[in-house]
Amino acid sequence: MKRNPNFAKVSGRYFFPEIIERKKKFLERYPEAKLISLGIGDTTEPLTFVITEALMRSSAALGTRQGYVGYGPEEGHEFIRQKINEVIYKGAFSPAEIFVSDGAACDIGRLQFLFGQNCHIAIQDPSYPAFLDTPLLSSGQKVTLLPCNPENDFFPDLNLARDADVLCLCSPNNPTGKAFTFEELERIVAFALQSKKIIVYDVAYAAYVQGKLPRSIYEIPGADSVAIEIGSFSKMAGFTGVRLGWTVVPEKVRYESGEPLRPDWARIVSTFFNGASILSQHAGLAALVEEGQQEIALQIRHYLDNITLLKQSFEDAGFETYGGIHAPYLWLRLEDKTSWEAFDELLEKVHIITCPGCGFGQEGEGFLRVSGFASREDVHKATERLRNGVLAIR
Ligand code: PLP
Repeated sequence: MKRNPNFAKVSGRYFFPEIIERKKKFLERYPEAKLISLGIGDTTEPLTFVITEALMRSSAALGTRQGYVGYGPEEGHEFIRQKINEVIYKGAFSPAEIFVSDGAACDIGRLQFLFGQNCHIAIQDPSYPAFLDTPLLSSGQKVTLLPCNPENDFFPDLNLARDADVLCLCSPNNPTGKAFTFEELERIVAFALQSKKIIVYDVAYAAYVQGKLPRSIYEIPGADSVAIEIGSFSKMAGFTGVRLGWTVVPEKVRYESGEPLRPDWARIVSTFFNGASILSQHAGLAALVEEGQQEIALQIRHYLDNITLLKQSFEDAGFETYGGIHAPYLWLRLEDKTSWEAFDELLEKVHIITCPGCGFGQEGEGFLRVSGFASREDVHKATERLRNGVLAIR
């Protein structure tokens, strides 16, 4: 067997191993150093009480003859699809239009099979790495990058996407923290309706949106005939390890031929996937009941307060900061430094691990991403170090 040449296209694009390597080398030199990780963007706070209870109940039931269940529907149990529809979408869809998954990243990958080889995809640059890596790995698709930077207020020039078939967008954005306004999202939906494009809209951070901004693309009239939306319990309820997500494929979203996409997505899901864990689905249900919602709101508040503290602290240290209001991420613009140079400097001088912006695309070069997923204690320590540390870093 010859190696699939597509792997060459993504080589070096996965930057987390490089972060781990640099951290390891640093610790070999300074084994006593107390590193603070504001890098990888993984949740840190324990699951809430209601969710933990649901997990315990669900696993105990599996150990009984009456409570045991095996395979469930590939697209998820009706109870969780209904609850997502009711709580997140206020009943706008039928459960058949909501597909429960083992996480948003997995569905971004599976979507490439829906698009097929001749599809032309437009992607925000910078973006969550799976958006570019998955089309690069599945041969054929043409990709157009849409630069998003402080100069265009992180809003892509839609003209660049005029020849694309699919527009992949994420709001609030990882890594920039940008959340689209109603007016911006209306412009995007109008563009897709007019030029007959499909939008893939990632709302993994929707729960972090503050005030009057859209939390779903379906808040824009007409979006339900052009948009597929991908959601996740990972950052909403700390399910990065538990694993649960969903994808909405409304019946009204059609191919050029007028046929709906939904049955083809159902075919992909039932071919590549045997359903999310029953434990995760029960835990997800618990996150969506009223008490669960109240608990996870406190957790989201915790991460948002972290990022507010960090934003202030990096600004006081002279950094130009973006994001950190509707998302648990700060996007720092660097002066005269590459992303990796600034990464190394923060590591060396204040022992803080961040994420180099270049890992999210070429537009990310010259930026660093800082994550608010941390304990409050670590955030206080980080702000203290930034205050007292060597601040020629930027
Ligand atoms: N989409 C975005 C924008 C993300 O940042 C992430 C995770 O960091 C994901 C999707 C993946 O989420 P999940 O854990 O549900 O696979």
